Amino acid sequence: MVIVMKPNATQQQIDNISEYLKKLGLGVHISAGAEYTIIGIIGDKRLLGDTPIELMPGVEKTIPIAEPYKLVTKTFKPEPTVIEVRGHKIGGGSLTVIAGPCAVESEDQTLATAIAVKNAGAHMLRGGAYKPRTSPYSFQGLEEEGLKILAEARDATGLPIVSEVISPASLEISLKYLDIIQIGARNMQNFQLLREAGQARVPVILKRGISATIEEWLNAAEYIMSEGNYQIILCERGIRTFETATRNTLDISAVPVLKEQTHLPVIVDPSHGTGKRDLVIPMSLAAIAAGADGLIVEVHRDPLHALSDGPQSLAPDDFAELMKRVKILHNAMEHVNG
Ligand code: PEP
Ligand code: MN
Repeated sequence: MVIVMKPNATQQQIDNISEYLKKLGLGVHISAGAEYTIIGIIGDKRLLGDTPIELMPGVEKTIPIAEPYKLVTKTFKPEPTVIEVRGHKIGGGSLTVIAGPCAVESEDQTLATAIAVKNAGAHMLRGGAYKPRTSPYSFQGLEEEGLKILAEARDATGLPIVSEVISPASLEISLKYLDIIQIGARNMQNFQLLREAGQARVPVILKRGISATIEEWLNAAEYIMSEGNYQIILCERGIRTFETATRNTLDISAVPVLKEQTHLPVIVDPSHGTGKRDLVIPMSLAAIAAGADGLIVEVHRDPLHALSDGPQSLAPDDFAELMKRVKILHNAMEHVNG
């Protein structure tokens, strides 16, 4: 349930209600909007008993939330969440493009790719240090060494760095280096990892599980938020369907569906979403046209020799072309949306 306070409710009235709820053993999340302050009640609603909350001073109304999740909903927080990373804003109408190799392979490869994507206008650098590979015999990533290389690339380019964590242990090490942690599709329902990411105070990119419904995905985000980390970026990266022409089926409709339901920023990964380099630009444009707040794109200085995901990686020139077109479309979207 959420409590919507009257526009003229005083801070004292808000504090009184919060204190009251806390005494009952409930958690409280306060969202102070431009017009209304919303108090979200976290915990078992039976603890409320017969409390007539509507009658408490300053309360406009209460709204029950039917969904199993609440902190992620727009009922709870109507304004879009904007996440600031080293001065760059993610969400709220700005464009965020995160680019870089699937995996950090070497210092040379990562630095060259970082400089190329920076010059093309990328806002952040990605690169996997811990790689969750389908086969145990595939390249598993450079682990902490890879994180150090990413941090060097940040020093060289100024780009904030994003990388995937695959376990509580890799999360702990990664927190020493990263600006944003990514939880990958294969771990979307690793609830222990979600909880630990919730205890961290860095933004989290939460990718959609390979066969996850939007409801399951939002519940996964709720796990992170319920631990107190409100900085989550949802990333649509394609789901498994009967279609074999593409690696996954990129569910572009997830973007407007999420925009209706949640205040969290939404980005799209056209690389894993399609598995094919030639489809990355068209699907990037489709994502931005559907209202995505940004993209995460795999770029390799030499895709033919990439240790992972070469077929879906863009060469630096293709990425520069992508940036050019995406920026034009993003600017035009302001006029389209009025
Ligand atoms: C990745 O971003 O490199 C990755 C492994 O993505 P996903 O979890 O979407 O498969
Ligand atoms: Mn990849």
